[in-house]
Amino acid sequence: MNYHFSSRVPKTDIDPVGNILKVVESPDIISFAGGLPAPELFPVKQIAQATAKVLNECGQVALQYGSSQGIPELRKIIAERVKLEGIDTSPDHIMVATGSQQTLDLTGKIFIDPGDTVIVESPTYLCAVDVFKSYGANFVGIDMDDDGMRMDHLEQALSEHPETKLIYTIPNFQNPTGRTMSLDRRKKLSVLADKYDVMVLEDNPYGAVRFAGENVPSVKSLDSTGHVIYMGTFSKILAPGMRLGWIVADESLINKYKMMKQSADLHTDSLSQYIIAKYCELFDIDEHIKLISSLYQKREQLMMAAIQKYFPKNAKCSYPEGGMFIWVEIPEIKDTQALFDLAIKQRVAFVPGEPFYSEHPKPGTFRLNYSNMSEDKIEEGIKRLGKVIQTALLA
Ligand code: PMP
Repeated sequence: MNYHFSSRVPKTDIDPVGNILKVVESPDIISFAGGLPAPELFPVKQIAQATAKVLNECGQVALQYGSSQGIPELRKIIAERVKLEGIDTSPDHIMVATGSQQTLDLTGKIFIDPGDTVIVESPTYLCAVDVFKSYGANFVGIDMDDDGMRMDHLEQALSEHPETKLIYTIPNFQNPTGRTMSLDRRKKLSVLADKYDVMVLEDNPYGAVRFAGENVPSVKSLDSTGHVIYMGTFSKILAPGMRLGWIVADESLINKYKMMKQSADLHTDSLSQYIIAKYCELFDIDEHIKLISSLYQKREQLMMAAIQKYFPKNAKCSYPEGGMFIWVEIPEIKDTQALFDLAIKQRVAFVPGEPFYSEHPKPGTFRLNYSNMSEDKIEEGIKRLGKVIQTALLA
């Protein structure tokens, strides 16, 4: 059968990350490959209580069609929460989305025509690259260092690519590197967006899960010209299965998002919205986030200590102050896919760095996740991986 697909559909069925995640599903593998929150902290009982209350108090409304922008109760809560990121906004400037993944898709729909350039951090969140690619984007990847995206390289790219439509950034505890953009660079980013009249999409799923260091104001809070679209999510601070994210932008832009959302899914699941709004009314979500942060801190510290002990001395890694990932660079390892195959034989897993690059992958890089593995397995897993790396270096 020849399906006559649109040009949006990938030409290949090869899904390198999907394949990796399938291989590592086996329960005897210690997997640092996924990007999942710790399920043991999902507030199951509290969500059950909130759900019962919603169904008793306003079941008919919660089960009816709703508004594309999202329920006012939840938008009010979000407007309060983003104050923690330095964003002074109102519920009118917020739209609730079906996870932040939908915000990426709607942003692609709104801004990207085939041939437009999207500037991304190098490396970056690979599902964002997939989304923008489906709208025909070309990519320019900007190098990072420990302070995030290099602003000198960004300015050069902006001057060489006047067709740039969007700069996509994950400034806090970035996926995949765990790095955080410094305040100076955030200020510069906001200045460059204005100077070159380019929109910035600020994706902040991990910022609230900070376990060390000081909070850095969001890029959106430094934006006085409306060039920054801010996106957040309840996925990492409550439960990803509820699929609840949000967008903060100027009202005229929110109107465009609403129109695009109508044709995508009419509105985000109303029941989920009411349940999360009720959860926030009945319980202290900040206390819950503290629990998550302290568990991840424990796991990150264990992983870091094991890396110092078992990895070669020249292994360079990021030192995240929050979030879920550590990024490792061992330039002598030329083929991390081969390293992955060796690791699987020793029943340990990670994600090779290559798929996270929109162009020019850096050899010897890989991502480790610490949020989803119990403490007793972290040292053992890194010990096994250390041995696999030694073997690969001797080969
Ligand atoms: N952005 C980034 C950087 C992510 O890492 C993820 C998921 N891990 C998402 C967006 C999508 O998250 P969600 O749709 O669950 O909010």
